[in-house]
Amino acid sequence: MVAFHDILLCFRNSITADLHTHIALSQTCRRLSHLYIHDDEFWQFVCFGAGFGRPLRRGGVEFGNILTWRRLAHVLVNHASHCEIRSCREANAELAEHRSRTFQSPFHPGHGPADILLHPLYFYLHFSGPCAEPSPDTLSVLLTHLPTFPECRASQYGPLCSHPNASCAFATFPPMQSLDFQDAHGNTYLSVQNPDGCTILDVNRALAALIPNELAALEIVLAHYQDLIRTSGLSKHQWADMVSKERGFLDDHEYPFLQELVAQA
Ligand SMILES: [Zn+2]
Repeated sequence: MVAFHDILLCFRNSITADLHTHIALSQTCRRLSHLYIHDDEFWQFVCFGAGFGRPLRRGGVEFGNILTWRRLAHVLVNHASHCEIRSCREANAELAEHRSRTFQSPFHPGHGPADILLHPLYFYLHFSGPCAEPSPDTLSVLLTHLPTFPECRASQYGPLCSHPNASCAFATFPPMQSLDFQDAHGNTYLSVQNPDGCTILDVNRALAALIPNELAALEIVLAHYQDLIRTSGLSKHQWADMVSKERGFLDDHEYPFLQELVAQA
């Protein structure tokens, strides 16, 4: 005889991957809720099917209970309901058709050479103008790590990690556990790894790490900070203190050259 629990399980597992639907179902009754709440692997499966992974935290810091897959699913659905940037709100719309056609086993990111497609956000965030350059543009990458004006937070990528949907979108289709980026001469200039599948934020952070710690970058960033401080009505220290607490959905973001701003005479 089939137990009611097994029927519910079969029902849950047969539904096409859709974050909204699963979240709604998980809240309909106690038994379904129990089924969902203790199965984080299933939530990973649902996120994966919707084209989302979980970026690694800085310094390899463990997630613990900060961001379980179930929590991430809620964060993604909640953010999509108020973000004003379409490419974040509907981060995977363009690749949805590919997924539905070719995803046979939507749980294991691939690795090794494959015929992969880069997510449009990779270009949108990291290049300025037409993608004629062999490597992403330093200023574009820098801007995705800086804060923006408070009134622009829902409408600009500033910083990218305050937009979980864009951040968690897989950087490629199909998702890959490791990615090597090569320049025009075929030399690898960037390697990105994430056992759960490389996301846009994983690639974005790896690109930012390539930016030389030089005067040119420092001047751009400090000028940007000064603009924000001027309109905030706060002192430099008050502003820096406030911004440093806004660490994104992984609670790990570090703003470039913030120490240098504070240390400035
Ligand atoms: Zn967003």
